[in-house]
Amino acid sequence: MTVLKTRFAPSPTGRMHLGNARTALFSALLARREDGHFVLRIEDTDAARSSVLHAEGVLEDLHWLGLSWDEGPFYQSRRQDFYAAHFAALQSQARLYPCFCTPEALAEQRRAQLAAGRPPRYDGRCAPLAPDETARRLAAGEAAALRFRVPVGQMIAFEDLIRGPQRFDSGDIGDFVVRRTDGTPAFFFSNAVDDADMGITHVLRGEDHLSNTPRQLLLLEALDLPAPRYGHLPLITGHDGAPLSKRNGSQSVAELRAAGFSPLALLNYLARLGHHLEAPGLLPPEALAAAFDLAAIGRAPARFDPVQLLHYQKLAVAALSVEDFLAFAGLDASRVPGAARGDFVRAVAPNVSFPAEARDWADRLFSGQPVIGGDPPAALREAGAAFFEMAARLFDVHGTDAKAWTAALREQSGRSGKALFIPLRLALTGLEHGPELRDLLALMPAPIVSGRLAAASRLAATDTLS
Ligand code: GLU
Repeated sequence: MTVLKTRFAPSPTGRMHLGNARTALFSALLARREDGHFVLRIEDTDAARSSVLHAEGVLEDLHWLGLSWDEGPFYQSRRQDFYAAHFAALQSQARLYPCFCTPEALAEQRRAQLAAGRPPRYDGRCAPLAPDETARRLAAGEAAALRFRVPVGQMIAFEDLIRGPQRFDSGDIGDFVVRRTDGTPAFFFSNAVDDADMGITHVLRGEDHLSNTPRQLLLLEALDLPAPRYGHLPLITGHDGAPLSKRNGSQSVAELRAAGFSPLALLNYLARLGHHLEAPGLLPPEALAAAFDLAAIGRAPARFDPVQLLHYQKLAVAALSVEDFLAFAGLDASRVPGAARGDFVRAVAPNVSFPAEARDWADRLFSGQPVIGGDPPAALREAGAAFFEMAARLFDVHGTDAKAWTAALREQSGRSGKALFIPLRLALTGLEHGPELRDLLALMPAPIVSGRLAAASRLAATDTLS
């Protein structure tokens, strides 16, 4: 029985973005679901556009996402001999010919075809060159690419895993370059022969590659190599419906990581981006794999929705254990007293989506630094200095019992509800909203509470005009 094999085959020309990450995820999930293999191949044959740094970035991003591969990473730049053998095989069947057209000549050809209202494609002008002429020009050092002779009058049909039956007329495909003038293999070629060599059975990739597929099928047929099944994923668009880009909200995986996103949140979001997943909530990777279904991938473009991503981020943060939450927030023992760790996490986690927010709460509760700077908020002035003095006195009496303290303050000040709690919250945390005040009070060291109430009474008494 052949094992199902998928692969992720990025060109390391930049940091991984959401589109790549989704392709990698879907490919990994399909392999996991079928007990298959997930292969990583770095398509770095284009030396001018690829970089080792970006290839390392891909590996780092995949590690962070927890998308581990079973085979690879294979680097195409190290497989030149393998490609050379396949070029030779095609040449021995006269399926390739050298093309001497310069980039300028090709651009001119394209312009003329477009001006005449014809689809641009290579017009085959080097195809009929006589062998002695090509030999002479090559010997004279003229640069030549190698083109594949596309057969005429052939229908190329395949069943796309996502888009269903596809048909292409070979007459619409110009002879295409398989080896560049610098001797490196072109994408169509190395991508297809590597899939065959690595035993890839299922290729999931972006819709932008759909028109490449008939070319690759022709190549594989000429080489008598097995073709994988191809599935082309619809584009991801921004909120404005335009392809996802920096301008409409796209961020790289590295940027999302730096912003404090959890990898599990991102996986959960991406697993639902253009793929219908019945089960709600945050699922572990194994459950995402079990629920993955090619038939549940839509054909319409998928719209990136940052609100949904944030939703999964909140679920992921809420699911963290005390230790994992503190590690996620980068909070060590110096910033959260040991005895308070569990209660701190339980109190603030529901109000936190990102590490910086958790650190901010730790500072507000434990650091003793002033929480109100600049002009005192209106609610503080309105409550007045006497209110905070009263609060401080009653705190000395009831300090450890927040319920008794606020009850006594309610009774003596005549304030209740928001009029009571907003000024208190402001005085103690500097914010009008947050976790239950009672939970926060239970965490805050008494000297910090007293100090904040004293500061609030001073601030409430200051004259803003002075
Ligand atoms: N290197 C290609 C890309 O990054 C791979 C396309 C494919 O998956 O076949 O677009």
